[in-house]
Amino acid sequence: MSADPDCIFCKILAGELPATIVDQDEHTVSFMDIHPATRGHALVIPRAHSRDLLSIEPNDLEAVALAAKRLAERVNEYLGADGVNVINSCGAAAWQTVFHFHIHVIPRYKGDPLRLPWVPGPGDPVEIAAAAAQLNGSTD
Ligand code: AMP
Ligand code: ZN
Repeated sequence: MSADPDCIFCKILAGELPATIVDQDEHTVSFMDIHPATRGHALVIPRAHSRDLLSIEPNDLEAVALAAKRLAERVNEYLGADGVNVINSCGAAAWQTVFHFHIHVIPRYKGDPLRLPWVPGPGDPVEIAAAAAQLNGSTD
């Protein structure tokens, strides 16, 4: 199984760094985040090292998504959370700081202090359509 000797999450998988594991299966391990955004914040990682969403193998992505769903169900049932945010950061510009793919499972509680990091507001329809055309792969 691929591992990166400089990766802290690979070290957790190898038992070289401590972690509080809350779930595991053939392809994934989930453990508590040491800087929790809210009570119960956990991370789901694939056992196989991959840097980010762009490079993770589809079967590993499927496995971590299912593990995140398992945790989301437990957060709701066992921690009494009112909701859950499931977040992945891909790339330093998107806040990724540990470059072993991971999904944050963040329990949400009514009145907790977390806020959206952007201010929702109507976009320019022309610009939205232009971005959509690029996403579609349209060549103007
Ligand atoms: P990101 O910024 O999306 O790459 O998330 C990395 C997350 O890993 C952060 O929320 C950190 O608090 C968390 N983290 C870093 N080192 C450890 C560790 N040794 N054990 C548990 N969580 C960690
Ligand atoms: Zn790794």
